[in-house]
Amino acid sequence: MLQKEKEIGLQAVGMAMTMAAAIQKELTGGDTLTKTDRSPVTIADFAVQALVCQILGSHFPGLPIVGEEDSLALRRPENRELFAKVIHYLKKNDAPMREKEICDSIDLGGAEANGTFWTLDPIDGTKGFLRGEQFAIALALVQDGRVLLGILGCPNLLPATGGTLFWAGHGQGSWKIPAAGGQAEPIRISAKTDPRQMKFVESYESSHSDKDMQLEISRRLQISSPPEQMDSQVKYGIVASGLADIYLRIPNPATPDYREKIWDHAAGSLIVEEAGGWVSDIDGKKLDFSVGKTLRRNHGILATNGRVHSRVLEIIANLAIQK
Ligand code: AMP
Ligand code: MG
Repeated sequence: MLQKEKEIGLQAVGMAMTMAAAIQKELTGGDTLTKTDRSPVTIADFAVQALVCQILGSHFPGLPIVGEEDSLALRRPENRELFAKVIHYLKKNDAPMREKEICDSIDLGGAEANGTFWTLDPIDGTKGFLRGEQFAIALALVQDGRVLLGILGCPNLLPATGGTLFWAGHGQGSWKIPAAGGQAEPIRISAKTDPRQMKFVESYESSHSDKDMQLEISRRLQISSPPEQMDSQVKYGIVASGLADIYLRIPNPATPDYREKIWDHAAGSLIVEEAGGWVSDIDGKKLDFSVGKTLRRNHGILATNGRVHSRVLEIIANLAIQK
């Protein structure tokens, strides 16, 4: 099932990982722009979206792609130097493309999130990418609101093996592959049942969640080590492979209108579920990928090894009542 989608998806994300890792090492101040929502976008975001969309578009013409980026800023005359770098890195990574082809490929990612579609976050955790830390290339195939396939490329997770590629297919389990080549291995969530022994992960960026509340929850669970901070969907990969047990993302009260984006959760959530874990929002509702580009019917995110899921939801509900 979905054999070709899986193979081409893994190939595209694998190539993108190599390119993104090289760009991260050589990154300079001029390689970043600020978007209208004030979030950063780099030459790597553009180059990865161009590369992945070009590959997906050539193998699956007509299958829509919902990507995070568009080419508008890249086309501006004042960003010519930045564009030249995108061209340079694509060429260096065996994907030579002309300017128009790059823009067209990036804009292939401008589809609406309806029916069956790919969703792509070319660089998830751009702020981590800029700090030289964790980031992920996230690709998922969604059909009528259900995630069928999820692929996460994590160049800085075991970098000595070229990074780690995770993939999961609905009903096919979750797998990890050393990106430099090697056997795929099945992954499982941890078997821990005692919350005190568990590891808790959250965003590095304090504006992306409510860290005070998360700390209070980890205290009430009597978790001995403090929450570990990490950028991007690498957190889902860590929970899926049993290296952490709880990933919590409580909406930050400073941005009450923020809605989670589908490309930030589709791949990672399937990888945790297929590894035996549970994913819901903080009210215990399943993530609803059927309502467009955001998870507007959900509120925050909770991914666990399953064993503590209801306990964490209960603590959240109690804290909400006390507020
Ligand atoms: P992380 O690295 O887990 O913190 O997640 C990075 C993602 O957080 C980015 O891709 C953004 O889409 C998303 N993000 C940006 N602003 C917010 C916010 N106010 N609340 C939650 N997530 C956000
Ligand atoms: Mg993202």
